[in-house]
Amino acid sequence: MIDFFDRAIPDANLQGNKGANLVVMTGLDLPVPPGFVIPIAVFKEYQQTGQLPLAEIEAALKSLAKKTGKVFGKDPSPKEQALYVSVRSSAPVSMPGMMDTVLNLKDRAEIMAAIERIFSSWNNARAIEYRRLNNISPELGTAAVVQAMVFGNRNERSGTGVVFSRNPTTGEPGLFGEYLAKAQGEDIVSGQRTPSPVKLLQQDMPAIYAELEEKVEALEAHFREMQDIEFTVEDGRLFILQTRSGKRSGQAAIRIAVDLSKEGLISREEAILRVRPDDLKAVLYKRIESPEKYTPAARGLNAAPGAAFGRVVFHPIDAVAYAKKNEKVILVRIETSPDDIQGISAADGILTSRGGLTSHAAIVTRAMGKPCVCGCEALKIDLKKELFEVNGRVIRKGEIITVDGTTGAVYLQALPLVESEVTREFSEVLSWADEFREMGVWANADTPEMVVQALKFGAEGVGLCRTERQFNTPERLVLIREFIMAEDARARTEAIKNLEKLQKEDFAAIFAAMKGKPVIVRLLDLPLHEFLPREEETADPKVRQKIRDLEEVNPMLGHRGVRVGISYPEIYCMQIDSIVEARELTGANVGIMIPQVITVQELLIIKQYCRSLNVRFGVMIETVRACMRAGKLAQEADFFSFGTNDLTQATFSFSREDAEKKFLTTYLEKGILQDNPFAVIDVKGVGRLMQTAIEWGRKEKPDLNVGVCGEHAGEPRSIRFFHNIGVTYLSVSAFKIPVARLVAAQVEIEQAKK
Ligand code: PEP
Ligand code: MG
Repeated sequence: MIDFFDRAIPDANLQGNKGANLVVMTGLDLPVPPGFVIPIAVFKEYQQTGQLPLAEIEAALKSLAKKTGKVFGKDPSPKEQALYVSVRSSAPVSMPGMMDTVLNLKDRAEIMAAIERIFSSWNNARAIEYRRLNNISPELGTAAVVQAMVFGNRNERSGTGVVFSRNPTTGEPGLFGEYLAKAQGEDIVSGQRTPSPVKLLQQDMPAIYAELEEKVEALEAHFREMQDIEFTVEDGRLFILQTRSGKRSGQAAIRIAVDLSKEGLISREEAILRVRPDDLKAVLYKRIESPEKYTPAARGLNAAPGAAFGRVVFHPIDAVAYAKKNEKVILVRIETSPDDIQGISAADGILTSRGGLTSHAAIVTRAMGKPCVCGCEALKIDLKKELFEVNGRVIRKGEIITVDGTTGAVYLQALPLVESEVTREFSEVLSWADEFREMGVWANADTPEMVVQALKFGAEGVGLCRTERQFNTPERLVLIREFIMAEDARARTEAIKNLEKLQKEDFAAIFAAMKGKPVIVRLLDLPLHEFLPREEETADPKVRQKIRDLEEVNPMLGHRGVRVGISYPEIYCMQIDSIVEARELTGANVGIMIPQVITVQELLIIKQYCRSLNVRFGVMIETVRACMRAGKLAQEADFFSFGTNDLTQATFSFSREDAEKKFLTTYLEKGILQDNPFAVIDVKGVGRLMQTAIEWGRKEKPDLNVGVCGEHAGEPRSIRFFHNIGVTYLSVSAFKIPVARLVAAQVEIEQAKK
């Protein structure tokens, strides 16, 4: 038997978690009710023989009674107090609520029976299932803790409570919790009586409160972590019953890590490691206050995180009109198209009934940091009548709904939201992270507004400025359509001149917004037919013919990217000219990147379009062939940037949209794939291609800069892998910049520790 007060060495493998914790607490001279641990070895012996070491347990009980000055196993005289004990399980891995607890035991026989009951409960159905689900070995076994009971309901000078060493919602230092006078812990848990803030204890029993503060501080200093502590006051005496590290909100997690470091309890490295990417996300996005209280009317795909409520509109123009009146608005569409961009921009949230995580709505809203639920197929939308129906309910224009883009849930009412708040500690921990990380963190940003947002989150440059967006305003669509419809090269050149002026202005605005930080502009990637209306939307026979001419069987594998730039040199020439001219105007540091490259010949041709000599040309590595030709490409390219979205599609030979809609869930459920490869980089396939490409590229050019600008660059596990294969910078949408900065530092710190 291990008496807590014997200055034993805490060891969860001997005493289980709870037991080891009690040993630690008594070691810190905390007022813990006395008791002893029946070690795991005894449990194992009992399993084999069915026998408990009765004599030893009895001796321990006697000594416990002596220590408390109470009597055990017989009726107390009027001058004496009876000792009651509890028996609890104590496994090396916490299994909350899975095994039995027996309270209020007052004689030897009851005890012994209780110990047998606790030991047997290791194999109850609940515990077995819990172990199976959480991969806990049945070999581990459990210890038992026998402890003197204290009673918070003994008299007026008694009570019980739970305190955190810091506020678990905000992270603010100082005791935070609840206290209930003349009560036992069960009274709080059962909800029958409502506890008061622990501050009241300060009024009722100031000395006890001061002692509690002191003990809580000692516990926090020992564990170097915010603690969640159960305590009881029995007849004016404080007892600490249990301590564990406290659960906390994202905002609190960040503040606590920063504060503990400033207080000298943990290093900056430790503080950075303690912040989880989800903590940052919780601070960045608005969320529903208590989502567990509400049942969603439908679920779609969680396309862009954050929550929003607002009045339903079905047409972009109405979104703009409502926003002008300062009304919150949710734009509901079957799917969105580039024409909807102003409506999307005006809306607080987007809901679509069709489209996957790479649909137009998803991509655009993620980049804007705006909540979006897409592919919500339960919605039957009638655009003409301006209503949708879901589960028999009809919602008309002007009614209020809430969308949660973090979970994909849709609610048919306004729900209370918690505002996002970028705190001082948030910025502080990220600035610490910047001191440790080696990988650069750049932004994917296509407009001056996005650039400003990205700079706010700490972008060091723009690693991917997609130029498609710049064609997608109504007046520019007219021009690009003129270009597409032109009969010959001369007519095309004529049509493109007007576009050039606008493009130059776009680039100059983006470069100026970056204030001297570098920008990498990618030349047009989209196939041309994307800029034409749908055939049913036009009556013009010439346009209809053109639409049919440009139609593709597999647009993803078709006439796009650099192939368009080679077939129609005017577009790329115009883009390169306007980039170079905007650079001259602003003095910016600019690189040009070519999409969908498969061979160095393409790069050589495009370079010839450029009249200026001092332009850096990089290639996107997003085809399998580009990976295999990385050595040759590196001879001619100034940098590489992996387009892991396309490279994943190309490696798996399936498109994200189809995969996610039709079979990926089954593949994940059956364990055929462990992760969605469009979310987490597929190390064994795509990852190997990347690693090989980097090796071959660096053989030719040892200091080759290598970036990743696909969505994986903002995903923590993928970032760790990219670091290991020598990626030099990540380029991510503005709202993912904090996560990329954090994880890029964490991976350095973890590896330095090894
Ligand atoms: C990619 O393919 O990963 C990429 C960044 O390009 P896009 O997503 O624009 O195809
Ligand atoms: Mg791509």
